[in-house]
Order: sequence, then structure tokens, then C-alpha cells
Amino acid sequence: MPVSIPEEIMSQARTAARMLAARLPAMVVTGAGISVESNIPPFRGPGGLWEKYDPYYHGHIDTFKEDPYRTWDMLREIIEGSMNAEPNEAHMAISRMEANGWVRPVVTQNVDGLHGIAGTRELLEVHGNARRIYCPACGRKEVLDRRSWPGFRTECECGAIKRPDIVFFGESLPEREVRKAFQKAYDGVDLIVVGTSGSVQPVSLIPDIAKGQGGRIVEINPDRGAMSMVDPDVLILSRATTGLAALELALNEELLK
Ligand SMILES: [Zn+2]
Repeated sequence: MPVSIPEEIMSQARTAARMLAARLPAMVVTGAGISVESNIPPFRGPGGLWEKYDPYYHGHIDTFKEDPYRTWDMLREIIEGSMNAEPNEAHMAISRMEANGWVRPVVTQNVDGLHGIAGTRELLEVHGNARRIYCPACGRKEVLDRRSWPGFRTECECGAIKRPDIVFFGESLPEREVRKAFQKAYDGVDLIVVGTSGSVQPVSLIPDIAKGQGGRIVEINPDRGAMSMVDPDVLILSRATTGLAALELALNEELLK
């Protein structure tokens, strides 16, 4: 194990693994907290993007339509942050657990694309992915990486201004992804909720729906503010990397005994 795990967290993880083992795969739901350890600060909160930009203005589809360059000031920072980031051990643990058949699918509110880079296959990016760019006028697509990003031009060859494939305020969420996530919740799937207070709709509704259908919830969070909307059956009070390392280890113990 690359991280040393405090006994208290290991014990919480063993309780979670005992609960989850009989009904795998569980669905994973992740938020900003999992990317913090890849040096991407959450948009909300200290040092976050929303201290600098008004999300409802800079991140609104109407602003993009009226003055796309104003939106692009903020978008550049989002993309830059993603480009500089690497998946961390939490992203990697989830991808290994998927390969073992223990989790599926992974629902994320993050637009940094790190789950995909970590190798997660069944990924529902309900707020989109900032690395994917398209032209709203002609439909031309490109995927940014570290090599192409420095030379990236916002103007499309057709003359229109390109945009990232993320959900702006005033736009609806990608239907296929959201439908799949909610379908699982209505099936009463067990959930592993990581690094989200569950305060952003509609993903915030998923834990309650799953629970109402008999699903159990494991939450991994370093602290639970008053904002938390998740009511977990087992709480692993830990940052994402340590909590997921503990859960992966505990599931190994539980399933191999
Ligand atoms: Zn175009």
C-alpha cells in the first residue's frame, strides 16, 4: 500500500466492506473532494474559482452567446487546472475496483477528466468534460491534451467560437448520463459517495433515491459540514486517497477470506 492507513479509518472501511460485499458492484459518486488531492481546488470554497468569477454570469450560457471571450477567461483557468493535474491514488483505486467488478458505474460531477485518464471505463460525467472541445456552429470536435493545449485557438476554422463540452448554467445536463445514474439509483444500488457534500442538484438526489429503494451508502469525506445532504450507513471519515485505499484493502480481505 502506498499510503499508511490509520487503524480507525481501516476499521470504518472494514465495516463498509462487510456491508457492500454481498451486493457488489456498487455505484460510485464523486465530487470536487476527490480532485483536491490532484491540486484542483473545488470551485466552491476558499481558493476556488467562484471567488474570482461569478458562476451565474461567467459560467452562464447566455454570457457565452453574448460575449464568449468573457466566458473563456474562466474556461481557460478550468482547462489549465485540468491539464496540469494527474489522477491521484483515489482515482486509481476506483479504476482498480472497477476492473475487479466491485464498482460500476462511476458518476462524477467533476469536469477534469481524471477518472477517464485513470482508466475508469463506465464513466458518467454528468457535468461534462473540459478536455473535450466542440464548435457549436459546425460541430467540429477536438480533445485537448498537454501537447495541443498551449497552441489551442478558441476560433474555429468556420469563424465561430468553440466551447468545452461542459454544462453551463442555463443548460440541461447530458440526458443519457443522468438517466443511467438515476436508473441505478431507482434499482436500489449501493453507493460509495466520495468527496461531495451532495449539495449540487441533481446528483444530490441520488443517495436519497437509492436509499429509498434499499440501497446502502458508504460516504468517504474528510469532514462533514452542515451542508452535507448525504445520510450514510457507514461513514469513512477520511480524505479520498486514504479512504479508498482502506476500502480497497478491506474489500480484498472480505472477498478473499
Ligand atoms: Zn466551427
